[in-house]
Amino acid sequence: MALPKRKKSKSKCRIRRASHKHPVTASKACPECGAPHRPHRVCAACGYYRGRQVLTVKSS
Ligand SMILES: [Zn+2]
Repeated sequence: MALPKRKKSKSKCRIRRASHKHPVTASKACPECGAPHRPHRVCAACGYYRGRQVLTVKSS
């Protein structure tokens, strides 16, 4: 197997890893209130998850 001649510097590793960013996850519309929320997360606007209230959200 080919071996690297020199240890890669911290800078070189970090430059490479700088491109390993996760893609921004798409947000879907909440079925309760229609506000955008991330999939598999409680809706921050109305506190609903899987069709039921799981958080009490202050309503103005
Ligand atoms: Zn909602």
